[in-house]
Amino acid sequence: MVYALDPSTKRLGIMGGTFDPIHHGHLVAASEVAHKFGLDQVVFVPTGQPWQKEVEHVTTAEHRYLMSVIATASDERFEVSRVDIDRPGPTFTVDTLRDLRKSLGNDVEFFFITGADALSKILTWRDHEEVVKMAHLVGVTRPGHKLINPGLPASAITLIEIPALAISSTDVRARVALGEPIRYLVPEGVAFHIHKHGLYLDADPSDRGNPQGDM
Ligand code: NAP
Repeated sequence: MVYALDPSTKRLGIMGGTFDPIHHGHLVAASEVAHKFGLDQVVFVPTGQPWQKEVEHVTTAEHRYLMSVIATASDERFEVSRVDIDRPGPTFTVDTLRDLRKSLGNDVEFFFITGADALSKILTWRDHEEVVKMAHLVGVTRPGHKLINPGLPASAITLIEIPALAISSTDVRARVALGEPIRYLVPEGVAFHIHKHGLYLDADPSDRGNPQGDM
């Protein structure tokens, strides 16, 4: 089983990301998209080995998964799936959607949510035509970032600015490395997990100028 889907779920958000670490911007984005599209549930799917990223720069999947579970535990609309973590090899969204479809059946409508920046490169993704057929795509972005349709039919994709996405995982990592506070940027339990396991102490603070990620 991929995760415990509430049997009444008909419209499912699938929130894909590296979540290194998960922060309040991700949670607000999932909540906003759930509200806008009338979603019954949102399942967070931390990537296994993110495509095009050097493995040594990404925190282990187990830590990213645990932080996602801690962050979502108190919201009954949110779940976390290990589907990408447990599949060997690089993570491709087409495999995420195929595995979830196989496990959940055909009665559930899929909305794949992720950063608009990542989604802007969808035409380079493996089997992207199939991805577009399997789910409505929702790109969420931080204020001031240009929202550009990567060349898909308007009916296939929705782009939404989320003010809370001014928080970024890159900045959280840099803050930890510099000994700056992360309280209120990430859920309290996630901050405890980070400090307890000494995560991000050797993150490169110069990444901070590039909050769109490190692809
Ligand atoms: P990323 O490059 O780490 O992130 C790019 C930007 O998007 C960053 O600013 C990041 O901010 C933001 N972002 C990422 N996920 C987000 C989310 N769920 N909500 C809000 N903002 C988000 O992207 P990634 O994490 O590697 O990939 C994102 C998703 O796209 C994953 O599910 C991945 O598997 C999929 N993907 C698939 C392919 C493929 O199939 N070939 C290729 C690339 C990505 P933060 O750092 O603050 O999160």
